[in-house]
Amino acid sequence: MKYYPPDLREVKYILEELMGLDQFKNSDTDTELTSDFIKDILTEASKFSVEVLAPLYSDWHRSGPELKDGAILMSQEMKAAYQRFSEGGWGAMTASKEFGGFGFPKVLGLAVEEIWQGAHLGFGLCSLLTQGAAETILQAGTEEQKRKYLPNLISGRWAGTMNLTESQAGSDLSVVTTTAIPETDGTYRITGQKIFITYGDHDLTENIIHLVLARLPDSPQGVKGLSLFIVPKYLIQADGGLGEKNFISVLSNEHKLGLQASPTCVLKYGQEKGAWGELLGSVNQGLSIMFMMMNQARFSVGVQGLAMGARAYQGALAYAKERIQGVPIGGTKPVPIINHGSVHVLLSTMKVRTDASRFLAYYVAYLMDQSSTVLDESEKQKTKQLVDLLIPVVKSFCTEHGVMNAH
Ligand SMILES: Cc1cc2nc3c(=O)[nH]c(=O)nc-3n(C[C@H](O)[C@H](O)[C@H](O)COP(=O)(O)OP(=O)(O)OC[C@H]3O[C@@H](n4cnc5c(N)ncnc54)[C@H](O)[C@@H]3O)c2cc1C
Repeated sequence: MKYYPPDLREVKYILEELMGLDQFKNSDTDTELTSDFIKDILTEASKFSVEVLAPLYSDWHRSGPELKDGAILMSQEMKAAYQRFSEGGWGAMTASKEFGGFGFPKVLGLAVEEIWQGAHLGFGLCSLLTQGAAETILQAGTEEQKRKYLPNLISGRWAGTMNLTESQAGSDLSVVTTTAIPETDGTYRITGQKIFITYGDHDLTENIIHLVLARLPDSPQGVKGLSLFIVPKYLIQADGGLGEKNFISVLSNEHKLGLQASPTCVLKYGQEKGAWGELLGSVNQGLSIMFMMMNQARFSVGVQGLAMGARAYQGALAYAKERIQGVPIGGTKPVPIINHGSVHVLLSTMKVRTDASRFLAYYVAYLMDQSSTVLDESEKQKTKQLVDLLIPVVKSFCTEHGVMNAH
């Protein structure tokens, strides 16, 4: 499908007219979010998507990366694009200022995320997961863990993944069997196999930080016995440099119907000994902590649906303006099909679906911003509960309507 750059007027209308820029003055950033500043950010992001991301589609992106000698190899073009993306600070937009991010509000992060996802879904997933891992460590990690992992995740030097699924544990995570054996120094050795791990291995970044759900030997059965571990691909030395490779092997790269550029891996934790890992949060609280990352990923999958739906609408609109077919009643010669009433109805329906998806997603991002800036504690809790309720709605509504538009 041909790529059409995003219509920035729509996004600016929501940010400036519907929400009002005053809403964002309490965000973590020192930069004043003026209309011109937002316009500049969106214009630059749009330029990046047109010049760097959209042209990435090639034969390689139709067949996907290769698993060679136990490692996933990405294309040179993809690596160059990821480097430019990170150097431009695009992955750090909404991340904590304390650890190198810009601290911009989530609504602005959403505006640029919609642009990446519309240009290249497979590319967008790596940064989506990395931002999710960073946010989860920020919320649940110790000060030492934050200092150790966040600056490199936020700068894009390292990537992040989430590891829940096992062959017998898909929707039902109560039957996860990956185990974590405590060591005397307080760290853990992880053994087990995870499947369908998005960006489970690749060479876009120097290191990959896996967040892995596993069970201690004496933990209760079911989801109440799951804990969450940080398991790096390469061990990290005391001075922050990279050490030996951890005991993690890539058993396969799944062949999918689409989304080929995004590697989907089977990962084996443990070889001659378990993979080294450290606990994130408390023992047996793993699922509730993992929900922070899952919720961020769910929201972003909704944004992917919105971006695909918007792109399909733009494609249909451009075609309807250019395709000449059919003489209208009372006319003398064929006209572009956009002039036919029934085509107009189809296009209007697509536009309404796109607008509704966009309003919903931006509203939830706005609530997320409110929940971190509002000072009143009970208001904060109420807003958070509303966000938790609406995130699955964003995911299902925006993806379903995105698919309808694409059809
Ligand atoms: C492209 C891709 C990327 C992925 N990336 C990741 C990743 O990065 N990390 C990760 O951990 N996982 C990942 N997953 C795994 C994904 O989260 C699982 O596929 C998902 O949890 C469902 O598990 P399953 O495929 O085993 O389906 P199953 O659990 O076997 O479900 C099959 C069907 O049965 C339905 N079903 C199951 N139980 C019930 C029930 N109780 N009531 C009603 N219906 C039910 C489901 O809705 C589904 O339609 C990825 C999957 C894909 C396809």
